[in-house]
Formats: sequence, C-alpha cells, structure tokens
Amino acid sequence: MCAATTLFESAPYTFECVKNFKGGKAIFHNPSTPVKCGGAPHKIMYLATDYFRKHGVLPKADVQYWSGVGKLFAVPQYEKTLLEVVKRGNIKLNFMYNLTEIDGPNHVAKFVGFGENNKDQVEEVVFDMIHVTPPQSAPDFVRNSSLVNSAGWVEVDQGTLQHVRHANIFSLGDVAGLPISKTGAAIRKQAPVVVQNLLDVIAGRKPSATYLGYTSCPLVTGYGKLVLAEFDYNNTPMETFPFDQSKERWSMYQLKREVLPRMYWGAILKGLA
Ligand SMILES: Cc1cc2nc3c(=O)[nH]c(=O)nc-3n(C[C@H](O)[C@H](O)[C@H](O)COP(=O)(O)OP(=O)(O)OC[C@H]3O[C@@H](n4cnc5c(N)ncnc54)[C@H](O)[C@@H]3O)c2cc1C
Repeated sequence: MCAATTLFESAPYTFECVKNFKGGKAIFHNPSTPVKCGGAPHKIMYLATDYFRKHGVLPKADVQYWSGVGKLFAVPQYEKTLLEVVKRGNIKLNFMYNLTEIDGPNHVAKFVGFGENNKDQVEEVVFDMIHVTPPQSAPDFVRNSSLVNSAGWVEVDQGTLQHVRHANIFSLGDVAGLPISKTGAAIRKQAPVVVQNLLDVIAGRKPSATYLGYTSCPLVTGYGKLVLAEFDYNNTPMETFPFDQSKERWSMYQLKREVLPRMYWGAILKGLA
C-alpha cells in the first residue's frame, strides 16, 4: 500500500508513492474542514498527474478526487482553468464526501456522502495509491477555550480582527475564524491590520484598519505551470500583476519556486513585505 498525509515528514514519502505508482487507482482527498492552504490537496494531485503523464503511466491511471466540499475552487475564474487541468488529466471529481475509514491491508477507502444528492451514500473504493489531507482544527487549548466560534476557531471581527467579545484580544493566521483560505499570504495582509488596530486600542481609539479577506493560493497545475489565485472575502480576484492570473503560467511557477521563498525568509518574516 502507498498511503501518505500532507505532514512535512511525509512529503518525501509521497514522492516515493508517486514514483512507484505504475497504474491503477490513485485517490486524492480533501476534507470538509478548512485546511492550511485550500489549494494544497489540489496541487499534489495536479503534480502527481503530470508526473504520471511524463512517465507514460497516465493512460493506465484512474485518478480520482474525493472532496468534502461542493466544488473544485470557490473563485469561478480560477476554477475554470482548474477544470481544464482536471480534464487534461482525466481526473474524476467526487464532491460532498467525508473519508470515514481506510482499510490499509485491503487498500479500501470508505467515503460517506453528505450532500443533497448523495446523503449517507457509502462508497468503498479500492485504491493503489491514496493521498489524504487530514481534517484540521485549532489547537485544543484554543478550541476548548471561550474564545472560539461554533466551528472552533477564534471568533474575531472579519474586518478589524478584534475579538467579538474581548476588546483586548486580536487574532490572525490559521487559528482565526475567518471565511478565507488559510495561508501565509493572508497573514502577510492581516499582520499590519492587527498592529494598527492594537495601537489604536492601546491609545483609546477605535480600530481603524480593515482586512478585506485577501488570500492567495499559488496553484501548481503541473511541472512549470502555476495559476496565481489571489482573492478577497467575496471571492473577487485581488491580483498583483497586470495580466490575467487565471491562466497557467511558467512565470508564476518561477515566482513560486524562486522568488517567494526569498521574499518569505528575507522580507515577510521581518515585516518588510
Ligand atoms: C502543504 C501546504 C502548502 C501550503 N502552501 C501555501 C502557499 O503556497 N502559500 C501560502 O501563503 N500558504 C501556504 N500554506 C499555509 C501556511 O503554511 C499557513 O497558513 C501558515 O503557516 C499559518 O501560520 P500560523 O502562524 O497561523 O499557524 P502555524 O504555522 O500552524 O503556527 C502555529 C504554531 O503554534 C504551535 N503550537 C500549537 N499548539 C501550541 C501550544 N499548545 N503551545 C505552543 N505552541 C503551540 C504549532 O506548533 C505551530 O508552530 C500551506 C500549508 C501547507 C500545509
């Protein structure tokens, strides 16, 4: 069996699984909870599929995506491109399913539907390779505190990032209960808002800065191809570049591979970008 999660230690193992896959059923899974980088469960599937194509395995592969949400991507412009990528890889899409069980020795994954049309429908899928993205939550000490909303994330105002019940508490990052894709790119825009609003509150003023929900998913769609999705709370694109970012581009792949790591370590972590 070849089974891996998105944990850091599992990344090299995942590549082993992709390399050792010689045909059959390859399952990629996305849970129903918010996850670190909503695009991450897609990216590995697109990369693996491209790897299968490059190595002549794709014609023998049945690639399937099983997701706990209702569509491939929330922003229509980007979803349109991703659906082309899915078509190119002959990937079968299954929405509104929870992965409830894996029988490792027998290579069977059990999915239970929870949508309008597939409620309680049980699908047992025999696989040759499976990539699982685990359901995610805030750490227990946060989840079990009085700070959270009903979903277990810190309950803050979406604009000011100030806690809705405790004026001296702000939250940002993955733990914040915001309806966005949880990314480092989002935190880059949240941090200055929290700093300004903390200074305002300390000085006895009302919070003056507003976070618009900016987030970014650099969606790797294959080797040398990337869609740089950037959007706000309303799923309206908030793009950085003057060209159509919904297209797959080599330049955006290079941005992700060469520029963003330097920007992250050299500027973002130092509060310079
Ligand atoms: C596979 C993958 C791909 C991604 N790709 C991108 C991308 O391309 N672009 C992008 O912008 N973002 C991406 N992200 C998302 C990005 O990594 C996260 O959004 C970001 O790291 C969140 O930062 P954070 O500080 O809020 O939370 P974290 O990075 O999770 O930090 C929380 C910290 O708290 C610590 N902690 C937990 N409990 C306790 C405790 N009780 N006491 C003390 N410490 C504790 C944890 O160990 C952890 O170090 C990706 C994530 C994954 C997993």
